[in-house]
Amino acid sequence: MIAVYPGSFDPITYGHIDIIERAGKLYDELIILIMTNDEKSGTFSLEERKDMIEKCVGHLPNVKVAIGTGLTVDAAEKLNGKVLIRGIRAVSDYEYEMQLATANMILKPDIETVFLLAKPENSFLSSSTSKTIAKNKGDLSCFVPSYVQEKLEEKFAK
Ligand code: ADP
Repeated sequence: MIAVYPGSFDPITYGHIDIIERAGKLYDELIILIMTNDEKSGTFSLEERKDMIEKCVGHLPNVKVAIGTGLTVDAAEKLNGKVLIRGIRAVSDYEYEMQLATANMILKPDIETVFLLAKPENSFLSSSTSKTIAKNKGDLSCFVPSYVQEKLEEKFAK
C-alpha cells in the first residue's frame, strides 16, 4: 500500500524525519508530497525543499519525494496513495488537523488520514522555529540535519 505524507517541509526538520521513518515502516511505499500553498510563498523554493528532503531520507529505500499542486487528495490520488500521513505535536495541531482530515474525508472517502504522534523530544520542533533560530544565528543542531542547517544559514546570511 502506498502512503503519502503531505506538507510544506519549508524546510524539513528532525520532527518530519521521525514521522517519515516511522510511517515508512508501516507501508510498502511512502511518498513525501511537497504541496504548494497559495497563502504562503515559502522561504525555500519547491526544488530547494525537495533537494533537502532527498538528502535527509536517502537511507530509506521505500521513501520517495514529489511536488504537488491543487488539492492534497487529488495529488495523492494521482500517486495511487491510499493513506495520508500527518503528524500531531500537541492539542493545538489536532484542531487544525481534524478540520483538514474531515474536509479530505468528504472530498475523497477512499483516502484515509492516519495520524502519528510526535516523539516527545520532537514536539517542540517546527520549520518556522528553525527559521527564526537561523535568522538570529542560533544553534540549529537539535532542529535540523547538518545539510539543512547549512542551507538555512546560507538563506539568512546577511
Ligand atoms: P503544513 O503546512 O501542511 O502543516 P508542515 O511541513 O508544517 O506542513 O507539516 C507537515 C506535517 O508534519 C503536519 O501534519 C505537521 O503537524 C507534522 N509535523 C511538523 N513538525 C512535526 C514534528 N516536530 N513532529 C511531528 N510531526 C510534525
